[in-house]
Amino acid sequence: MAHTATPDIVVVGAGPAGSALALLMARAGASVLLLDKARFPRDKTCGGGLTPRAVAVLKRFGLLEAVESIAPQRVTGAHLRSPSGHVWRMEFSEIDSGLPPFGLIVPRYKLDEFLVEQAVSAGASFWPGAGVTDLTMEGRRVVGVAVRRDGRREEIRAPLTAIATGASISLLKRLGLLRRMPPVILAARGYYSSVTSLEGSLEFYFEGDMLPGYAWVFPLGDGKANVGMGMFPKGQRKSPRQMLEEFVRSGPAADRFRSARLDGRIKGYPLRTDYPLYDAHGDGYILLGESVGLVNPISGEGIDLALESAEIAAPVVLSALERGETDAHSLKEYDLRLRRRFEGYFRGMRILRDRAMVPSVLDSLILRSARNPELARTVTGINLGVVSPWVVIKKPGLAWRVLRYLAHRTFR
Ligand SMILES: Cc1cc2nc3c(=O)[nH]c(=O)nc-3n(C[C@H](O)[C@H](O)[C@H](O)COP(=O)(O)OP(=O)(O)OC[C@H]3O[C@@H](n4cnc5c(N)ncnc54)[C@H](O)[C@@H]3O)c2cc1C
Repeated sequence: MAHTATPDIVVVGAGPAGSALALLMARAGASVLLLDKARFPRDKTCGGGLTPRAVAVLKRFGLLEAVESIAPQRVTGAHLRSPSGHVWRMEFSEIDSGLPPFGLIVPRYKLDEFLVEQAVSAGASFWPGAGVTDLTMEGRRVVGVAVRRDGRREEIRAPLTAIATGASISLLKRLGLLRRMPPVILAARGYYSSVTSLEGSLEFYFEGDMLPGYAWVFPLGDGKANVGMGMFPKGQRKSPRQMLEEFVRSGPAADRFRSARLDGRIKGYPLRTDYPLYDAHGDGYILLGESVGLVNPISGEGIDLALESAEIAAPVVLSALERGETDAHSLKEYDLRLRRRFEGYFRGMRILRDRAMVPSVLDSLILRSARNPELARTVTGINLGVVSPWVVIKKPGLAWRVLRYLAHRTFR
């Protein structure tokens, strides 16, 4: 087995979480080796929707202008359609969130390649086609990784390994963090062209058979759209792919797909929304993004949280490397900051998801949000992660009224 020079940090996975960490660490002067089993550009199965939260992080990274230049579409809000056909347009600008009042849609083959390029320009080394097959352990401590590339096996040792492998759990099994895949959202997406009436909005459709779940239509400019289906498995008989095909053929937006063409294949992939199942750090390693289940349990959006996890990790990791102490104790601060920001939010969102994903509640919520600006702002803020979901679970007043919509399904 060949041995390669020792970087300060080896980052496994060049999705948004891994590339963002590689970028921030390289900018700070660390020597970084970023690895991905795929060759880039590669298209991660995704909707490619960058929420205002993701836009805000990219702005803090100084990358917003450049990302806008590769984004075919800006979106200023979302259309939500309830099972009975009520429609509400959620406006991102209507809440005083401190976030930019828009999101972007960027196909992942563009976004991820762009982020890798930024990391490399900042000084990180990148090995595409380099699958990590194992972690090198000394006792409980991770001291490096075993990589297969170009048919050869190599070992890379580093004081710190960052695992950002998305929904793939093989390295998590190796760490003893998971034995099997936890419950996931099952999702599928396809790229369509010649779709009519696309505007600068995300579109979400909640329909009988697909519940608990939804279809999305994300515009990509020039009549193109990323169209997908996300389902929280609860014994539905059909797969997300079948539901997506049905949605396009005969769903509420079917008229707009009459002349549409599917470009390429429909692809499915799971989403992990289970944060926090286990610690995001240990001796010699940290975990980022979806590898700790950081995906919004209702909207299925996780690019923003992947970027944020890297932003939270970078200063902690840098300081640990400077001290030459990369044991679990020295990395704990990352975990604590992550938990402070996301733990309560995720627990609350899962409760809301379980209560809200039924037809009567969705009908009531969407109808009333369209009529009541205060409720609209609360729901928008919860979705963007700037209003705590516990506001409607715990507190009285408006929140209590919202809870009634959610808890008493017959309330209309
Ligand atoms: C159908 C679908 C639609 C979605 N739509 C949206 C959306 O519109 N907006 C949004 O914000 N989120 C969306 N998500 C969620 C989003 O895709 C993820 O949350 C996000 O990609 C997580 O980023 P990450 O960097 O943690 O992991 P990933 O983006 O999954 O990146 C992981 C990387 O690790 C690499 N890798 C894995 N194992 C190894 C290994 N052993 N060795 C080397 N490399 C490895 C992979 O090749 C990959 O490049 C969607 C997900 C799905 C499935």
